[in-house]
Amino acid sequence: MTDGFVTLADIDKARHALAGKVVRTPTVQSASLSKTIGTPVHLKLEHRQITGSFKLRGATNALSNLTGPEKQQGVVAASTGNHGRALAFAAHLEGVRAVICMSSLVPQNKVDEIRRLGADIRIIGKSQDDAQEEVARLVREDGFTMVPPFDNANVIAGQGTLGLEIVEDVPEVETVVVPVSGGGLASGVAAAIRAVRPSARIIGVSMDRGAAMRASLDAGKPVLVEEYESLADSLGGGIGLDNRLTFAMIRDLLDDVILLTEEEIAAGMAHAYAQEREIIEGAAAVGIGALLAGKASARGPIVAILSGRNVDMNQHRRIVCADATGERAIPCPA
Ligand SMILES: *Cc1c(COP(=O)(O)O)cnc(C)c1O
Repeated sequence: MTDGFVTLADIDKARHALAGKVVRTPTVQSASLSKTIGTPVHLKLEHRQITGSFKLRGATNALSNLTGPEKQQGVVAASTGNHGRALAFAAHLEGVRAVICMSSLVPQNKVDEIRRLGADIRIIGKSQDDAQEEVARLVREDGFTMVPPFDNANVIAGQGTLGLEIVEDVPEVETVVVPVSGGGLASGVAAAIRAVRPSARIIGVSMDRGAAMRASLDAGKPVLVEEYESLADSLGGGIGLDNRLTFAMIRDLLDDVILLTEEEIAAGMAHAYAQEREIIEGAAAVGIGALLAGKASARGPIVAILSGRNVDMNQHRRIVCADATGERAIPCPA
């Protein structure tokens, strides 16, 4: 690392560590988006990654960088979302014990899913803060290593391998559109793209309901934002007031971070389903949503990253069937 930034060398190293352990996902051109936008638009189909999101890349790279004794003790995290799933799976594959801490309010299906992926579950208290305290205790008293979801050099380098694949598949890429929450994905992808394709623009997209990274960029430092429900639930949460890496990387490496309404996110999911035959979650739909809304007006070729597919299928159905008169005209059973 140089100046606290993850470099191309770190990402190249991650790529070797990930070989054979994660799927090398395809990038495909979208005929319908290319026609609508008027320039070639490609989709990086990372929602087809094992565990259903790119988070497996960062988690796998973080595990590969543990020392022998650290592996012996195990890893811990408090995420019940895509990071928790990825860490559970990656740790199981490496024969490393993973403990995922969660509150008693987490729905049973999420608990079951993470257990199925091979993790030990620790149910503690009634809030995410209680769960996080248990993580801290396991680190302090039992020697576990915490693997954070985004603000960690090995995690960022793992997510950055996506950027290398994008440039391999679309060498003439001029714009990359990437979802942003804590910024691990966008930091890694931007570090890779800036290094091998410096002319390309990188546009981050968040939801307008509690976009912690956008608010922090505006404030010039990490700030707290209120959390709201959103279709893009994987984009919720803060960036950490003590953010060490992703805030500065996003600030220095991205060209812009734009915000979408819930309706624009829904339009992205509906387009993915109706036109591309892809089932994606809200967080993964912000790239397509931004292009359809004309908010990411950009030089082509454009690559939009579809980051995950872990969506409740009843919710997905409500969204893609929502509008039977307009563009979202999917014949859905009543
Ligand atoms: C975590 C996640 C994101 C956001 O990634 P960050 O590294 O936190 O910015 C986007 N999409 C999906 C599906 C995710 O799971």
